Amino acid sequence: MQQYFVKGTISIGSSVFFSREQLHHIRHVMRMKEGDLLRLADEAAHVFLAQLRSVEGSYQAMVIEELKVEKARVHITLAAALIKGERWDYMCQKCSELGVSKIQPLITSRCVVKLQDKDIAKKQARWNRITMEACEQCKRSDLVMVDTPCDLNELLACEAQLKLLAYEYADAKSDRLLDIVHRYPDVTSILCVIGPEGGFHVQEAQLLSDNGFLSVSLGPRILRAETAALSIVNVLSLLYNS
Ligand code: SAM
Repeated sequence: MQQYFVKGTISIGSSVFFSREQLHHIRHVMRMKEGDLLRLADEAAHVFLAQLRSVEGSYQAMVIEELKVEKARVHITLAAALIKGERWDYMCQKCSELGVSKIQPLITSRCVVKLQDKDIAKKQARWNRITMEACEQCKRSDLVMVDTPCDLNELLACEAQLKLLAYEYADAKSDRLLDIVHRYPDVTSILCVIGPEGGFHVQEAQLLSDNGFLSVSLGPRILRAETAALSIVNVLSLLYNS
């Protein structure tokens, strides 16, 4: 059953209007007809069963009942250094499917991608469209928000009970991800950081380590940035939220 995210909060018995894009998808992609059932998720992450109604030549949805959905116990924020175009899009899409709660784009010294201030709003809207479509496809009840890019010093202000730095040069005394999960079973918020194609400067890794980030290895191989992001989000999501 197809799911759509709608603005604001909805309740049983209410009529819900769709965006132009959603109406196009309903009519021409899903070829849905009056009476068809669909899922609606609102901004409070509540999910409802609704029925399509044809009103004055357009479609609305009549909300029938609220559906019981599992909410993630642990909020996982991925702070990932910006990487090139389609690989960044791919990372946003897959991490949304794998259970990330929020994506915080990072600007670090070795980021190849340089965003102009004037382009940020448009890029961010596109990234949030990608995560919304991924959340609709995998039937998440909550939306993954992609925030405005920030640098490492701004990132230090982000709150989280557990802060992890995925560091490919993590030495032998660094924690294994599994050991960390066993040591911190009751956290409800995690912030994990992934570097860009060129990795972190030692000083950047030191800054994070000096501010409470635990260095973790994702194995003996050097992973592409998007692979590392998917790997850490998937492991944390499976171990904490399933
Ligand atoms: N320094 C790498 C190199 O020499 O090719 C490039 C960085 S890697 C492509 C991008 C990011 O993925 C790293 O900054 C790190 O955050 C993460 N990463 C990649 N492999 C990792 C591993 N085995 N353990 C932990 N993090 C890893």
